[in-house]
Amino acid sequence: MLARQQPIGDRKKKIRVAAFIRCGELCKTCSRNRCEFEPTEDMPVQIPCIECDESGLDNDRKPCEACDGTGFFKVARCPKEYVGHRVSVASNGLSYLDKGILPDPGGLNDQSAWTVATWDALQSDCQRIEEERRRLDG
Ligand SMILES: [Zn+2]
Ligand SMILES: [Zn+2]
Repeated sequence: MLARQQPIGDRKKKIRVAAFIRCGELCKTCSRNRCEFEPTEDMPVQIPCIECDESGLDNDRKPCEACDGTGFFKVARCPKEYVGHRVSVASNGLSYLDKGILPDPGGLNDQSAWTVATWDALQSDCQRIEEERRRLDG
């Protein structure tokens, strides 16, 4: 059995942002030096919180911890940059996996628990984003 870790805190947010990028919702036309949003501290990109469905409230009707009860969390730099190297690499690995290619030789058991947990979280986030899209389209 693979040990599974639940993503927490900042990493969870990074994975969320990476999921939006994967689904083509963010930074589609960003280049290395220029972000399509040009975010700043005063004009950050607002990422919808999937944790609470943007309601800002958790299941007990208390302020959502992931977004401080605002329904959104703010990213004051290019979301692609915010995601960071490690999560980006995992996200790229997942693209290979979708095509049936494992990024590291040796099979799924050789992937680190961290990577596998990140893939799980990315996939479930992407699914939720796509469900949300279908809901809006339908
Ligand atoms: Zn960007
Ligand atoms: Zn929230």
